[in-house]
Amino acid sequence: MPMNFETVEVTTDLLIIGGGMGSCGAAVEAAYWGKKHGLKVTLVDKASMPRSGAVGMGLSAINLYVGLAEGNNTVQDYVRYVKTDMMGVARDDLVANIARHVDSSVHMFEKWGLPLWKDENGGYVHEGKWQLMISGESYKVIVAEAAKNALGEENIYERVFITEPLLKDGKCVGAVGFSVRENKIYVFKAKATLCAMGGTVGVFKPKSTGEGAGRSWYPPFSTGSSAYFTMKAGAEMTCQEVRFVPIRFKDAYGPVGAWFLLFKSRATNALGENYMETRADELKNWGKYGSAKPIPANLRNHLGLLDIKEGKGPLYMRTEEAIANLAKKYEDDAKAFKKKMKELENEAWEDFLDMTIAQALLWAATNVEPEVRSSEIAATEPYFISSHSGSSGAWVSGPEDLSAGTDYFWGYAQMTTVPALFAAGDATGACPHKFSSGTHAEGRIAAKSAIKYILENNTLTEADPAVIEAVKAEIVKPLEIFEAHSGFSTDPEVNPNYIMPKQFMYRLQKLMDEYVGGANVFFNMNEASLTRAAELFEFLKEDSQKLAARDLYELLRAWENKHRLWQAESHLRAVTFREETRWPGYYFRTDKPTLDEENWHCFVNMKWDPNTNEWSVFKKPVIDMFGVE
Ligand code: FAD
Repeated sequence: MPMNFETVEVTTDLLIIGGGMGSCGAAVEAAYWGKKHGLKVTLVDKASMPRSGAVGMGLSAINLYVGLAEGNNTVQDYVRYVKTDMMGVARDDLVANIARHVDSSVHMFEKWGLPLWKDENGGYVHEGKWQLMISGESYKVIVAEAAKNALGEENIYERVFITEPLLKDGKCVGAVGFSVRENKIYVFKAKATLCAMGGTVGVFKPKSTGEGAGRSWYPPFSTGSSAYFTMKAGAEMTCQEVRFVPIRFKDAYGPVGAWFLLFKSRATNALGENYMETRADELKNWGKYGSAKPIPANLRNHLGLLDIKEGKGPLYMRTEEAIANLAKKYEDDAKAFKKKMKELENEAWEDFLDMTIAQALLWAATNVEPEVRSSEIAATEPYFISSHSGSSGAWVSGPEDLSAGTDYFWGYAQMTTVPALFAAGDATGACPHKFSSGTHAEGRIAAKSAIKYILENNTLTEADPAVIEAVKAEIVKPLEIFEAHSGFSTDPEVNPNYIMPKQFMYRLQKLMDEYVGGANVFFNMNEASLTRAAELFEFLKEDSQKLAARDLYELLRAWENKHRLWQAESHLRAVTFREETRWPGYYFRTDKPTLDEENWHCFVNMKWDPNTNEWSVFKKPVIDMFGVE
């Protein structure tokens, strides 16, 4: 037993890793099928489920509702929208599978008590074509409660950070992690494992520094565990180059969706010019995607960034103009006008209070009255969030009815290329724009499929005890390193024998920011910068073996950085491999500055081989299943 850590062993049928939206969906579905077949389902989360993951603070809109029963849209409409927004690169089968299941997740949320806004006819209030307005401060609390009730508290392990997959002959047979509160290592042995540990923040240098340090658009606790876990298991990954750079209210990262979609606001540069109009010609350089409606999010970013580069910033959300336009038709009736203005003002503040409280605080602290003056918006640093407008994650099998007979199917929906390892949400790639609701639905799909896998392959394969011991020793190594060497220097933060997690994170972020297209360099990169990044990366990887931690808190930070490192490396490899620029606004290869449909309308996939420690990067075709090339 390493140091003074106790080992807790848990044997189960299905192990769900993560307690976010995907896992909550998986829990509800798996509990249903598990009870039916006498199977045990266990869930483990690094945090506390009611507030864990990206929805922890709440949301003001459900971003995906297709409305199939209402006849509002078709599955094909959604596939077209997603694929176009991703500049032609998305999996039709995965997107369609989520689209046809998502409405039922939304109906469950409503049944469980989530307040969805209703119009005068009792219909949902749409923020945009696919989005529904909610009073969502307690969104995650409600969804987690349903998941907990379904599984039972005794099957849930909170505040346990999963570090490593357990493998046996190429199959995933469980996971190992440690408690972030007690000296305990957890060894989970499972017949199938479902990975849903969210995406990655903190790979790139954040714009927030000093007193704002730690603030980012993406909540800081999503640290690349999904990417690490699936890669370390040897799973094929996809779209690792597709990062997301949101444009948000500046400094507190407040959401812009309600302003653009519900309030119909314009964004302009400092001269009052609408860059979507003044830069319209630039769109012609981006093939058929430039003339698509809606214009892909990255192209909208790109046009705004061109203005910034030319010194025409800051950019502004014209909130006062939007509110005035909406209240205009009440102008002749003073009382009705006043009431409407109050209502709009309330909605504007609630939008932030539901999901980004810090933005409301910043507005209050800086005397912003949205009905009186505009607010600054800006591009953030890059993130990896494949459930939103990014796309990086594991390459998973599609559903049989849509994907059989193609390269996209190998037996069980949502299974990675590693037997018994399933994935959902930010852990799966090439099926973006599923958001909170689509991720919940995808978690349900994955859980049902994993239960089917267990029923058809009902044996518990165990990892070699020596392998488990080696993983346990590796987990506590940062504590041992600190203990062994901290006496060598007078300042424990500075020591030639080790590196502390915070310093390590700064080094990673500086490297990625400066050479791999961070915010500091306007998301630009080229072969020379990527070559330099690869060189520096080797030193960083060497030093990752010397990460030190003085307590459990720092042990968590050390492991979060080890996980981030793999997300970063796979991104570096993918952007180097793709010799074109496909997502300007997210990143720009200045040495390959154009779209190359002929050679690069494809997926970039990659794999790390656990046996040889070698990476391979290769192309995979984009298959058109719905006539939406
Ligand atoms: P998450 O919900 O993030 O859950 C990840 C889980 O994994 C957490 O429980 C976490 O604690 C756990 N975890 C992480 N690492 C480990 C580890 N090593 N060991 C164990 N557990 C671990 N969607 C909408 O529908 N509407 C919106 O308005 C909207 N706005 C958004 C705004 C922001 C700022 C962000 C970041 C996302 C937004 N989304 C929105 C998208 C939505 O939040 C995600 O689609 C959804 O949360 C993805 O679910 P997930 O299960 O993949 O990850």
